[in-house]
Amino acid sequence: MAVVNPFTSYIERLARAARALGLSEVEKKRLSEPNNIVDTQIELTRDNGTVERLRTYRVQFNNARGPYKGGIRFHKAADLDEVKALAAAMAIKCAVVDIPMGGAKGGVQFDPKQYSEAEIERVARAFIRAMGDAIGADKDIPAPDVYTNSNIMGIMLDEFQKMHGRNEPAMITGKPQGLGGIVGRDTATAQGGVYVLDYFVSALGFKKKGLRVAIQGFGNAGATAAKILSGDGHSIVGISDSSGALLFETGLDIDKLLLEKNKSGELKDTRARIATNQELLETDCDVLIPAALDNQLTVENAPRVKAKIILELANGPTTPEADVIFGQRDITVIPDVLTNAGGVTVSYFEWLQNREGSIWSEEKVREQLKEIMTKASGVLWKKSKELNVPLRDAAFLLGVERIVSAMRTRRAV
Ligand code: NAD
Repeated sequence: MAVVNPFTSYIERLARAARALGLSEVEKKRLSEPNNIVDTQIELTRDNGTVERLRTYRVQFNNARGPYKGGIRFHKAADLDEVKALAAAMAIKCAVVDIPMGGAKGGVQFDPKQYSEAEIERVARAFIRAMGDAIGADKDIPAPDVYTNSNIMGIMLDEFQKMHGRNEPAMITGKPQGLGGIVGRDTATAQGGVYVLDYFVSALGFKKKGLRVAIQGFGNAGATAAKILSGDGHSIVGISDSSGALLFETGLDIDKLLLEKNKSGELKDTRARIATNQELLETDCDVLIPAALDNQLTVENAPRVKAKIILELANGPTTPEADVIFGQRDITVIPDVLTNAGGVTVSYFEWLQNREGSIWSEEKVREQLKEIMTKASGVLWKKSKELNVPLRDAAFLLGVERIVSAMRTRRAV
């Protein structure tokens, strides 16, 4: 499979949206490049005293609708084009669920698995120092992403507070709860995706309980979705992780699988058939939830997928060619920018909570998340019907339209 530059894909999609929405050349140009890029090197002193320089980015794509928002990844492959594409996707995602935030993304190009905990802490602190005044509660609010977590966010907050000499918990989200983090952030992505699924199950006329669901990935997004959906009366007929898949027609016991995974690190159920990830993607089910990696549903396996609904909890799991095949086969693909936006939505609640100086209850988080995800699903469904386009195209058009509308109101274009 040819490797597609993610930022080139974004620009191609933008060109189509610009034609459909009648954007001016200036408007198109403003959405083709980030507003700001911090592209620098940080110095890391290793535990053995040697010094390394690590490439470090923060891409601030667009802030017409609110402060920049997006995660920080520690990854070898975090190059500038990838980070730019992810920053643009964040701006679209926040606009699709209509939260008042823009889009950003950051990265440090290194493999954290090769570094000690103390070294990773020094990288986190150096990242914040390298950002200078570019981030802050009213400017740009980072969050965890690939190989960063709540502890790293806590360290970054600490460094920010030391640098600026003030307490500002709203400058970062995904923090530990003791430092102003919000309850329910760890289940937010999956829970938000389940609210979206509930909406589309009704809209498409499927039964509300007893759906047969297959899930690729048993990490934060996949395992939490499996637990919520089985609790809601659906049957998880297949699940997988990086080591392979388990298929069981009458429904797996998710609580038992979670216990076993926590104990041995393995996906194990003696009643289930052991299968490959490819078999999982093609298994007989009503709903398929890719919740692991990008580019999993391709021109090769799309003709054999049996699900009627694909709920994209992962970012970018479907290739453009597979999208065309699903359209021809009348399979509904609910796109990532809507499905997994529960994470950034609850991050927005965390930012609100910190600014209010309050602590939100779990019930309040759940209620508000449900309201936002259900409303966004309804708006998107209507738009896709009106324009007679797939949900993914409708989402991109909706996101761009809302961002451009904010830029026009500000007379920024
Ligand atoms: P995670 O690291 O917690 O879990 C990833 C899971 O995928 C693991 O179970 C891993 O074993 C499995 N996996 C890895 N390689 C695989 C393979 N080849 N085949 C099948 N399974 C494989 O990650 P996560 O946070 O659950 O994120 C999963 C996806 O959801 C990613 O695309 C991520 O960008 C997206 N997402 C997550 C969040 C969030 O809040 N967690 C928010 C938005 C989007």
